Amino acid sequence: EKLYGVSRWGGGYFEIGENGNVQVTPVPSDNSIRIDFKAVIDEIREEGVQFPVVVRFHDVLRSQVANLNTTFRSVIAEAEYQGKYQGVYPVKVNQMREVVEEIVDAGAPFNYGLEAGSKAELITVLAMNINEDSLTVLNGYKDEEFMRLALLGRKLGRKIVVVVEKYSELILLVRIAKELGIDPIIGVRSKMTVKGRGKWESSGGERAKFGLTIAEIIKTARYLKEQGLSHCLKLLHFHIGSQLTDIRAVKEAMTEGARIYAELHKMGFELEYVDVGGGLGIDYDGSNSTNESSRNYSMQEYVADVVYGMKEVCDLEGVPHPTLVSESGRAITAHHSCVITDVVGEIRSNSAEIDTSVKAGEHLFVKNIRELVDTFDQQMNMQEVFNDASQYKEQAVDAFKLRVLTLEELGKIETLYWQLMTRLKAHYADAEYVPEDLQELDYSLSSQYLCNFSVFQSAADTWAIDQLLPVVPLTRMNEKPDVNCSLVDITCDSDGKIDQFTIGREITDILPMHKLHKDEPYYIGLFLTGAYQDVMGDMHNLFGRLNEVHIFSYDDDPQDFYIEEVVKGSSVEDVLSIMQYNPRAMASDVKRLIDRHVASGNMNPREGVRWTDFYENCLSGYTYLKTQS
Ligand code: PLP
Repeated sequence: EKLYGVSRWGGGYFEIGENGNVQVTPVPSDNSIRIDFKAVIDEIREEGVQFPVVVRFHDVLRSQVANLNTTFRSVIAEAEYQGKYQGVYPVKVNQMREVVEEIVDAGAPFNYGLEAGSKAELITVLAMNINEDSLTVLNGYKDEEFMRLALLGRKLGRKIVVVVEKYSELILLVRIAKELGIDPIIGVRSKMTVKGRGKWESSGGERAKFGLTIAEIIKTARYLKEQGLSHCLKLLHFHIGSQLTDIRAVKEAMTEGARIYAELHKMGFELEYVDVGGGLGIDYDGSNSTNESSRNYSMQEYVADVVYGMKEVCDLEGVPHPTLVSESGRAITAHHSCVITDVVGEIRSNSAEIDTSVKAGEHLFVKNIRELVDTFDQQMNMQEVFNDASQYKEQAVDAFKLRVLTLEELGKIETLYWQLMTRLKAHYADAEYVPEDLQELDYSLSSQYLCNFSVFQSAADTWAIDQLLPVVPLTRMNEKPDVNCSLVDITCDSDGKIDQFTIGREITDILPMHKLHKDEPYYIGLFLTGAYQDVMGDMHNLFGRLNEVHIFSYDDDPQDFYIEEVVKGSSVEDVLSIMQYNPRAMASDVKRLIDRHVASGNMNPREGVRWTDFYENCLSGYTYLKTQS
């Protein structure tokens, strides 16, 4: 636990059980429910579902929806805040139908709504958010069709708020609303001077891509008055960035936003809602700090700052407390899904050794480096040993290129070099001070565990923006891990790797894992992938979407669970079709080729049928490595 920090980043959902397996408590308020990951893996295997697999815990999703809403409700009651809370879930964070359906269902008692940021998302939320009391908030850039769809929602009696991101959208909306004779509900998004800290800080500040300046907000208000539509301006929106690491940014944004709301109110615009956007962060590295992958506050603290921040300004200004809206996506979805992948091999620089014994006529470089190995125990200065060995190896590569060294001699030098590095590392194993150059030995001698997944599909942000996601073995946590390693995926891309981990409170490039046992699969979990990672992945190397299993717990047996649904991942023909191939035509082309070889006697007919079937089975099969039969 100390090493992997599961309960620090687990958000109350994940911990290590006494048997050394990771366990999930899908409803933290009822911690009698414990699901063992080993049991989940066994069930997945029994169902014949191939790894890698996305596992969705729908109970976790429901818990997070309830958490956010009940936290707002209790803080509002405690603060004697006069308004309500009516949150919306931004579907862009995870648009999967099953996820959105579950959130809408779990949110129904709270009139929890949806947010959309594009036309396709708007078309989705129009069909999904059918509760007339919940809000639908529309952000993002809009065209005429977008406006008409929003007004269709109004016609159907829904509380659809069109948030104006730029002034020209207002003119468009008013024109179409008048043409259709439908009163829109209008929101304005304000560019904030406050910037969040962290990877998404450019969402705030004057150069923010979205939102109106103060002058544009005033112009908007005046234009609506001129058009006789003042009563339609109902919502003020701001969003200063996702994954806010420092709570001070939230406090500052609340003060700035509340002041704008109060001033608009005093100008005669009776806004009903203030929408504080997203930003509620996740503690991915478990440090509870302002690290980029963490945050220095809890959900409770965030909510308190939103509610009390708003109340304070409204009371000072003598304006009513508005209904508070937030658009938390990451906090709702991050915990509910994870990726289980199996380790399919180990890559080590020093894994292969060849015979290094003396051979007549061998090159001086081989003798030199062998001498270093033979005299290692008498050496006084280990830095010098490292320097000499590194120099011999570099010279050897140059000499090989100049045809001075043979391949055999270069192989011997490589073998001896890694023997030296291994002994140097052992020499410093318990040392208090390790020279800088030698500190890198931990990394260069570490293994790479080859995992059956694609970083580009399943953990896009670790590649794109160095986002840290917790990665841990799912079993054997009660055994001392004895292999330092980083993880590499099966794409043909050296960027396809994970070499950022959290150990204790430190961020490191290697993680201790367990030795692989022959014939015993070793499963690794990539956690907190439910927000963005689940849906942002790309098709690099034509590895498509993963197989998915949806897990529910039984009410009557807390230790038990069931796989409610298996959603098949991409088959080879699926990904080929996306790339404009015609898999059926490809299968007939290959069959024709095989038939030709059968006709010419190169292949017997039975063999021909077998190869044809094999090609077709592979076409309809999973894109990832087949590691179980
Ligand atoms: N609302 C808007 C306008 C956003 O741009 C975003 C994401 O950046 C969100 C909500 C969701 O933010 P988060 O996932 O941090 O809750």
